[in-house]
Amino acid sequence: MTQWVFQPESATALSVAESDRLFPVRRVYCVGRNYAEHAREMGESTREAPFFFTKPANSIVSVPENREGLVSYPPRTEDLHHEVELVVALGAGGSNLNLEQAEKAIWGYAVGVDLTRRDLQAAAKEKGRPWDVAKGFDQAAPIGSLYPRGETGPLENGHISLEVNGTRRQQGDLADMIWSAAECIVELSTYFELKAGDILMTGTPAGVAALQKGDHVLASIQRIGQLSFRVQ
Ligand code: MN
Repeated sequence: MTQWVFQPESATALSVAESDRLFPVRRVYCVGRNYAEHAREMGESTREAPFFFTKPANSIVSVPENREGLVSYPPRTEDLHHEVELVVALGAGGSNLNLEQAEKAIWGYAVGVDLTRRDLQAAAKEKGRPWDVAKGFDQAAPIGSLYPRGETGPLENGHISLEVNGTRRQQGDLADMIWSAAECIVELSTYFELKAGDILMTGTPAGVAALQKGDHVLASIQRIGQLSFRVQ
């Protein structure tokens, strides 16, 4: 029998909408600047190949449908930003996938928020340093319930938005993504061998802005519902 030095942390999981099932998360990949308007607000103007960063799987705060999650305002920042994003969850993997294989690998979709310590990210960019402390902190990825692709069909368009305390901050359409979810998976699979359980946060539309303690965030994507959480 295995003798652990200490009990390993249990696997991070996302809830599956309208069921008791759980989706075990292996890795969290994220795409940078995947909507033209957001790329412009971050100071980029040319269309470049998708680029990636990661968050630890255990930075996820899983918020099941019809529940309100709680996220602690993180330390070492005075500029915590929200980025509403379509999350795609892989039910299969592989390397060097083609577009058809990438589309088939998508098991389901969820609404997620890529929380970002924007001040630390700006400092990292300026000095050419890694983004980890800006993107991969504790509770940096609140994500709602997963909706199986078998039920939703492919999510290639649909309204995506985020409001804070009832005021709209971000909005766009999934059709405005520079690289589709499947195109991002194709590119990602040339860098990493992807596996079932990997998830990808596919980038945010324009309107990113700061959150404060006490704020209520409601993130929505047409056909896959809402993610609700409070910052404490
Ligand atoms: Mn993002």
